[in-house]
Amino acid sequence: MVEKKIQKSPSNGLPLYPVQNIFMQAVKYVFVTGGVTSSLGKGIISASLAKLLQSRGYRVTIQKFDPYINIDPGTLNPYEHGECYVTNDGAETDLDLGHYERFLNVPTSQANNVTTGRIYKTVIDKERNGDYLGKTVQVIPHITDEIKERMTFLGKSGDFDIIITELGGTVGDIESLPYIESVRQLRYELGYNNSLVIHLTLVPYLEAAGELKTKPTQHSVKALLELGVQPDILVCRTSHHLPKELRKKIALFCNVQPNAVIESIDAPSIYDVPLLMLKEELDKTVLSKLKLSGKEAPDLTEWKGFLSRLKNPTSEVEIGIIGKYVELKDAYKSIAEALIHAGAANECKVNIHWIHSEHLTHDNIKRQLSSLNGILVAPGFGHRGVEGKLEAVRYARENKIPFLGICFGMQMAAIEFARNVLKLEGANSQEIDPNSPHQIIHLMEEQKQITAKGGTMRLGSYPCKLKKGTLVYKAYQESSIQERHRHRYEFNNAFLEQCEEHGLIASGTNPNLHLVETIELKNHPWFVGVQYHPEYKSTVMTPHPLFVSFVKATKKDK
Ligand code: GLN
Repeated sequence: MVEKKIQKSPSNGLPLYPVQNIFMQAVKYVFVTGGVTSSLGKGIISASLAKLLQSRGYRVTIQKFDPYINIDPGTLNPYEHGECYVTNDGAETDLDLGHYERFLNVPTSQANNVTTGRIYKTVIDKERNGDYLGKTVQVIPHITDEIKERMTFLGKSGDFDIIITELGGTVGDIESLPYIESVRQLRYELGYNNSLVIHLTLVPYLEAAGELKTKPTQHSVKALLELGVQPDILVCRTSHHLPKELRKKIALFCNVQPNAVIESIDAPSIYDVPLLMLKEELDKTVLSKLKLSGKEAPDLTEWKGFLSRLKNPTSEVEIGIIGKYVELKDAYKSIAEALIHAGAANECKVNIHWIHSEHLTHDNIKRQLSSLNGILVAPGFGHRGVEGKLEAVRYARENKIPFLGICFGMQMAAIEFARNVLKLEGANSQEIDPNSPHQIIHLMEEQKQITAKGGTMRLGSYPCKLKKGTLVYKAYQESSIQERHRHRYEFNNAFLEQCEEHGLIASGTNPNLHLVETIELKNHPWFVGVQYHPEYKSTVMTPHPLFVSFVKATKKDK
């Protein structure tokens, strides 16, 4: 076997792939921009298109360019930007990468999410290094060159036929300008048959007039044209079907072909969108504009099977998610999606009840949780809402209600056990109470010297060994697993023996670091805490075994 030796660029550390053979099929690039408002679902449209192209046999990946100055979203409060999604290689990324993985069933990496902060940092580091010696460093060409290098980076790996690039933000934002300018330059450099721009807009329905309005779309296309970018395809979000005449009007005013005006009607579930886009022939239009043909017709049998299980449940369960960011559902996106996947696998409708941990007290806990078939304590940071989470754990343990604790949720389960079973008064996590006499959760050895906040947690994929006969082993059906982490604190092994004597099982451990990764209880039908984040790895095609097992347990509880 010839070993592929890839050199790294000394300036920005990116691998330098060899220049592609000119006879090779060029990698095709699709850029997705957004107009009119944010939150139109660029991520879902990108993921749906990618799914359709993948189902036709193309190797597709999606990347996202975010216009903010943070190096990554790892330091952002979930209220600001929703969940922080973690990849196998330990990148803290935008939650849209979660959609990409859930739709495509292919892992993403740091290269799939780039922010303005990262671009500027690279350019400024290069400047300090003397790479531009003598030159004035400017947005054009230096920032745009760096953006273009990153935009085409995955295309040079030889692993993909089509790269879809989602541009965060809305056209017209000051922050997005260098990205749009880079797309303008790239379209010329890549060739117009090798790239295209999809613009996602809104066609609002005015209740009072009883009419759909095209003006916002016209304006946002105009804003793109002013920047030198002509979109090839318009995907129009709408609450009402777009009549033929209206599509023609949009096409005429916006300079696109009528069949390139695609309706994206509000859907009951994000998982319906690929089929809606198939019906609108978005994939066909994209392929013909990219001059691609000859691959098979889309095979969505498995996807449709999932949708049919999702829509025809034979049972129903109530699961409470206890967290402190519950006002913003996006803060727990991957957990909610993993429960949907697991529900479909069990042919069971999972009704999620969002419960604010700050509202839970010893006195109201029964009233708040008694109608639930399962309790999930969510990940988190800091002391706010901790006591409510501990009450929820206690309620689940004592009343034998299926329980899943994720990361902070697992740490809560350990603290509750220490306080109420081992009777260690004041037991806590070092994070919450640094003066606690019984720190059953404490700072990891390698975290002790770290003071910087960005990208410094235990991040990414780590191996875990599961004990035979345990709940986790039964769920995974194997003893060696890999799961993704994002935390600073860990279970304190000094308490392990005492815990085990009282019925707690350390069912999963890291084989190299001897860290406790999963805990469960002997005298409980289904009580599992995991230090890692299983939700990141649940996809439509491979629902996560732990969530599948948890939902199954809640069904039994009914
Ligand atoms: N705050 C905890 C820690 O850092 C848990 C983090 C989390 O839930 N992701 O260990």
